[in-house]
Amino acid sequence: MTVRLFNTLSRQVEELKPLVPGKVSIYCCGPTVYDYQHIGNLRTYIFEDVLVRTLRLAGYQVTHVMNITDVGHLVSDADEGEDKMLVAMRREGKKSADIAQFYTDIFFNHCQLLHIKRPDIVCKATEHVQEMIELITRIERNGCTYISGGNVYFDISKLKDYGKLARLDIEKLMAGARIEVDQNKRNPYDFVLWFTKSKFENQELQWDSPWGRGYPGWHIECSAMSMKYLGEEFDIHCGGIDHIPVHHTNEIAQSEAATRKNWVRHWMHGEFLVQNKEKMSKSKGGFLTLDTILEKGFDPLTYRFFCLSAHYKAQLSWSWEALTGAAQGFERLKNTIIALKAEAPQAATGPTAPRIEEYRGEFKQALFNDLNVPKALATLWATLGDKQLSPRTRLDLAFEFDQVLGLGMQDWKEVALALPTEVQTLVGQRQAAREARNWGESDRLRGEIEKLGYSVEDAKGTQKVRKL
Ligand code: AMP
Ligand code: ZN
Repeated sequence: MTVRLFNTLSRQVEELKPLVPGKVSIYCCGPTVYDYQHIGNLRTYIFEDVLVRTLRLAGYQVTHVMNITDVGHLVSDADEGEDKMLVAMRREGKKSADIAQFYTDIFFNHCQLLHIKRPDIVCKATEHVQEMIELITRIERNGCTYISGGNVYFDISKLKDYGKLARLDIEKLMAGARIEVDQNKRNPYDFVLWFTKSKFENQELQWDSPWGRGYPGWHIECSAMSMKYLGEEFDIHCGGIDHIPVHHTNEIAQSEAATRKNWVRHWMHGEFLVQNKEKMSKSKGGFLTLDTILEKGFDPLTYRFFCLSAHYKAQLSWSWEALTGAAQGFERLKNTIIALKAEAPQAATGPTAPRIEEYRGEFKQALFNDLNVPKALATLWATLGDKQLSPRTRLDLAFEFDQVLGLGMQDWKEVALALPTEVQTLVGQRQAAREARNWGESDRLRGEIEKLGYSVEDAKGTQKVRKL
């Protein structure tokens, strides 16, 4: 089965044709570690995790690389404001390396709670400055840079197709461009590759370079690190849609100016998590972290399940009500799986029904057709509800699907419910009624228990109580 994915470059769903048959190389822009990653950022990492898991299900050997931005990302993606790490140093009165370590650790801890697999290679910008200097030197040699006000700039006029990813109409944009804050730029869309004369004092992070002591721009890190680990041309590059017009546009420009050939074959972008119809973002304030979700008593995987409910190319609206709705669906799934575990014998037995291949095929087809996770979830529910399949078979298929869904189904088990006293009393009375073979009273008590929000099931002389 072939895998078809939307390519932002062509604006079409295309068959994935890896550079090396059987292998997929993929680079995802990672966090800027000056603050917590909010749940919007985490939505993008969940989408990328599902993509990598899907490619592995399809049989590809995947190399997944992610960077950690610990220098060079200014407050605005377009070279305005201070380095975000400086903002954090002032806010927290700590060294930049300590801040980076602190937020990196929290990020990976949140990823673990959400079952986002750690990429095969995680690389820090501060540990790859030499590679960035070498890449800037190549771009310079190819005549696409200039030095102004002490900084090295990328000259976008030297590329025929600058802005091809975002389909920017540069001439039109130039006509309406506002007066650029950085007077050193020849063109408002030029961007910094290397800062020597920082506009700001206290730039703690500095390196020697052919252009003087300074620090790299943000975009160059992704080009340098992806090429180091995946080669000068690779298969897939991902990020959130906000990266299309500036960050990824500039990554393409500088990479292709250096190598003079095509860089990335397939671009994929995840849509936003929105709050009151606006992108959740740190700059707007009011953003939520996974910790807030945990503090409210939700299982972190409820948030993963919530994200799986929407296609990655559709906006997802955040609200506590929406998360509560997802929590109910998640609970129902858990209860179904736990009940099947109780029914199913330990070893897989029984004849294999043709429906197994159909469900398996449906599940794969949904994912291999541009990651349609909501459709794949519908197949999971259909499988679980198919009484023609043995409980063991249904369970095994669910575990197979969970390799991509990543909800940790194998670990789900019955947890003893702390029942309210009122419910406990009714359950006790019902037990007595059953032992006295008073079925009418037993049914009446079941109704009372249900009114209090619990279901009761009879199993081998005992009663199983679950929250409805
Ligand atoms: P940053 O740390 O700001 O570089 O962002 C990390 C990742 O999160 C990037 O891929 C962004 O495109 C993505 N992102 C930022 N805001 C949102 C949002 N509200 N919803 C989904 N993804 C986002
Ligand atoms: Zn990047």
